[in-house]
Amino acid sequence: MSDNISVAGVSVDTRHWIGGRRIASAGSFADHSPIDGSLLGEIARGGPAEAEAAVAAARDAFPGWATTPRAERARILHAIADGVDKRIEELAIVETTDNGALLRSHRRGVMPRVAHNFRFFADWLLRLDHEDFETRGHTNHVSWDPAGPCVLITPWNAPLMLATWKVAPALAAGNTVVLKPAEWSPLTASLLADVAAEAGLPAGVLNVVQGYGSEIGDALTSHPDVRRISFTGSVPTAKRIAASAAANLTPLSLELGGKSPLLVFADADLDLAVDLAVEQYDNAGQVCLAATRLLVEEPVAEEFTRRFVEKVTALRQGDPRDEGTDIGPNIHPRQLEKIDGFVQRALAAGARAVIGGQRGDGQYYAPTLLTDVEQDWEIVQEEVFGPVLTLQTFAGEDEAERLANDTRFGLAATVATGDRERAERVTARLVAGTVWVNCFFVRDLQAPFGGSRQSGVGREGGTWSFDFYCDLKNTVTAPQGWGQDHG
Ligand code: NAD
Repeated sequence: MSDNISVAGVSVDTRHWIGGRRIASAGSFADHSPIDGSLLGEIARGGPAEAEAAVAAARDAFPGWATTPRAERARILHAIADGVDKRIEELAIVETTDNGALLRSHRRGVMPRVAHNFRFFADWLLRLDHEDFETRGHTNHVSWDPAGPCVLITPWNAPLMLATWKVAPALAAGNTVVLKPAEWSPLTASLLADVAAEAGLPAGVLNVVQGYGSEIGDALTSHPDVRRISFTGSVPTAKRIAASAAANLTPLSLELGGKSPLLVFADADLDLAVDLAVEQYDNAGQVCLAATRLLVEEPVAEEFTRRFVEKVTALRQGDPRDEGTDIGPNIHPRQLEKIDGFVQRALAAGARAVIGGQRGDGQYYAPTLLTDVEQDWEIVQEEVFGPVLTLQTFAGEDEAERLANDTRFGLAATVATGDRERAERVTARLVAGTVWVNCFFVRDLQAPFGGSRQSGVGREGGTWSFDFYCDLKNTVTAPQGWGQDHG
């Protein structure tokens, strides 16, 4: 197994990054590109021994980093952001080759946002404060103490963006980190280790371990020295992690799946509503927030569908490296099987494919819209994580709300309406961590982000991230008892 592979001309180290050193493993796993299925390389396959080494490195580095002044931590995080900015092209092409998402999105949106994640939390750290307050003359002072080593486990659909959304606040808070990226997209996490080292982040503060979650995961999440676990991924894995973390009552943050609705009222700007619906095919439907259930008010359903089909037919599916491509491949043959299974079972049950409904060539799935579905069907209740939407109609706000809220998820919802009061009424009744009104995917890092019900536990963003990654301490000081008072 070679220590370095060349991915689109960029050299990527395939080993772990532990305690400021590259560490190999006896075993490896194959990493393929979803674009054409080609083998990119063999990646170090970590297990309990590597988990132990990484947590030990994080534990040893913790006292030094936790006591590094805030301003110095912030300076290093800014240097990491600068390093990301310098390597945007490299990070973008490696990510696209590894996970199949559009190169133009990586270049212009995602990688600049990765840099922003570091700058944002570095700057927020410097402003993090709580005004002292008095209780019967005593002063209450609230402080955010670093918690300790954090295990961060992330998925493949937006690998570096989602990883740094956790890494940045965890490091800013003064914690040390063990990052375990997804085995289907392991490469940019390795590049992040290079960038962090070049920026002067001390050894052991950020560690990156590679491997299958089923082999290395439990050793990380059940480790008694780990003080926080932050996970983004699927509900079944979250349940396993929660059970494993229970041994030490390690606090968890869980960002999970969704089955979010887009509610289109008859008074909506229909072109806008159609655009919002078409956007749900972004990243080949592999977006946790995707509004995969189109709920359209009866009088406009036919016209909405006609305009939607017209727009989707014009989308270009193909190589994600081409500027003109709108929809790329799905991540893995297994994911494709899963997507097709959902669609074929729905069709067999009586659903109608208005468009799509089958695989394309290679690892591509045709953008699909299914109608004639029932609320209790699997296709309406379960997350597909592919370019598959369902369309149901409703009559009035009560039915819209009933359908929208009737799943076990509660990640996001989008409302298209021309009536501000209706928007407020409906929004108040929706179970969702984020509601977008006449827009989609506008995301400010200072806002709380997370899911209700089985879409997650906790919120990330702004102070909420620091609340999670810190041990909050309240110090109560009496007005008397100083110096000579002690006699
Ligand atoms: P997944 O749960 O299969 O894997 C996620 C990560 O968990 C991977 O790194 C994997 O190796 C690891 N893992 C697997 N088993 C483990 C174990 N036993 N212990 C510890 N770690 C383990 O999820 P996925 O397929 O990579 O990602 C897709 C899912 O992520 C979808 O459900 C999607 O909705 C969700 N997601 C949610 C958000 C959000 O912010 N809410 C964002 C993106 C993706």
